[in-house]
Amino acid sequence: MLDRPDEHQEIRDAVRALCRQFPDAYFRAIDAQRAYPEVFVDALIGAGWLSAMIPEAYGGSGLGLTAASVIMEEINRCGGNSGAVHGQMYNMGTLLRHGSRAQKEKYLPAIAAGKLRLQSMAVTEPSTGTDTTRIRTTAVRKDGRYLVNGQKVWISRVQHSDLMILLARTTPLAEAPEKSEGLSIFVVDLHDAVGNGLSVQPIANMVNHETNELFFDNLEVPAENLIGEEGQGFRYLLDGLNAERTLIAAECIGDGYWFIERASRYASERIVFDRPIGMNQGVQFPIAEAFIEIEAANLMRFKACALFDTQQPCGAQANMAKYLAAKASWEAANVCLQTHGGFGFANEYDIERKFRETRLYQVAPISTNLIFSYVAEHLLGLPRSF
Ligand SMILES: Cc1cc2nc3c(=O)[nH]c(=O)nc-3n(C[C@H](O)[C@H](O)[C@H](O)COP(=O)(O)OP(=O)(O)OC[C@H]3O[C@@H](n4cnc5c(N)ncnc54)[C@H](O)[C@@H]3O)c2cc1C
Repeated sequence: MLDRPDEHQEIRDAVRALCRQFPDAYFRAIDAQRAYPEVFVDALIGAGWLSAMIPEAYGGSGLGLTAASVIMEEINRCGGNSGAVHGQMYNMGTLLRHGSRAQKEKYLPAIAAGKLRLQSMAVTEPSTGTDTTRIRTTAVRKDGRYLVNGQKVWISRVQHSDLMILLARTTPLAEAPEKSEGLSIFVVDLHDAVGNGLSVQPIANMVNHETNELFFDNLEVPAENLIGEEGQGFRYLLDGLNAERTLIAAECIGDGYWFIERASRYASERIVFDRPIGMNQGVQFPIAEAFIEIEAANLMRFKACALFDTQQPCGAQANMAKYLAAKASWEAANVCLQTHGGFGFANEYDIERKFRETRLYQVAPISTNLIFSYVAEHLLGLPRSF
């Protein structure tokens, strides 16, 4: 069951072949050094996997979110962590759907050729948290450019990206017709920005995930870097957020299968009281339960992917897929750790590393409570709770 072929087998086999060159020990060492998996990322770029969603006309493979999600799933399933690279997949959707022709011509061929990376998206702010429409970072238009001031927190991969999608308020909240209007998104050239109005302060954290605090002090962004229409950025961003949630659901599915495979193998091999521990129902049932939940979450993940790829609304499915998959992978992680007893805590088994990595997805990119509140309000018609 864990290795049954499906319609994405060609992609799976190819990504697995690449990942085989980067065994557990590689990712373990990167984690221990709190380093970025540069050689692995270069290999992914070289093989064209990170330009999967770029149309062929711009040098990519022209694949959809479903295929992109399979690539991310396989990296995690092979023991790696797609968190190092998934930004390029979900940011790509924003640029493809809402970027101008000139922006696509400027950036996409260079990204496809591996000369530029679009790995960062800056939304979260320290003072407003999940209440995104109240962000305080402003972009004020002046003489063919925008002046950006404010602060962001937890922004991933800034030190390993060339470009960043930035959300900022262009109309003060009090003057905006709706709180979700008056927000705009920009593509920021990080090489131009850092040291010229943008400063970057790394945040050490529980997982080896490169995150940063960003300080904007009159950063100049050329007006042509505005994506789409001024004031409509929040709407554009939602596409990117739905893609992000769906991709992360797929990564959690990959983690989940990794944990189930490791737990099943160990439970079959570890002999205690003269028999494999997996002969005990108290050991095998939790593994079976975790597997069932991964399988169920996977259905919602593919549903969200299919809706996104056919340009249909997918907010509900993307949120539910992310909730189900993050919960299932976390339960599988817990079961895998428990099955390994004390050995699960030893770094060399990689379980504690993957355990930390998959725990993140109950909080980021959206916390579980906020998904419940979305479902309660938007699907069930319950009164808004905040
Ligand atoms: C490793 C990492 C990488 C990240 N990368 C990025 C990135 O690249 N770009 C980016 O923009 N952001 C990024 N984030 C930020 C992430 O998206 C946020 O941390 C997440 O959305 C939660 O927001 P917050 O931390 O501000 O929590 P808060 O909004 O402060 O919420 C704290 C807790 O309170 C709960 N809560 C808040 N309001 C309510 C309510 N009304 N009802 C019920 N519960 C509520 C939340 O569910 C949460 O559990 C990253 C975070 C981490 C940890």
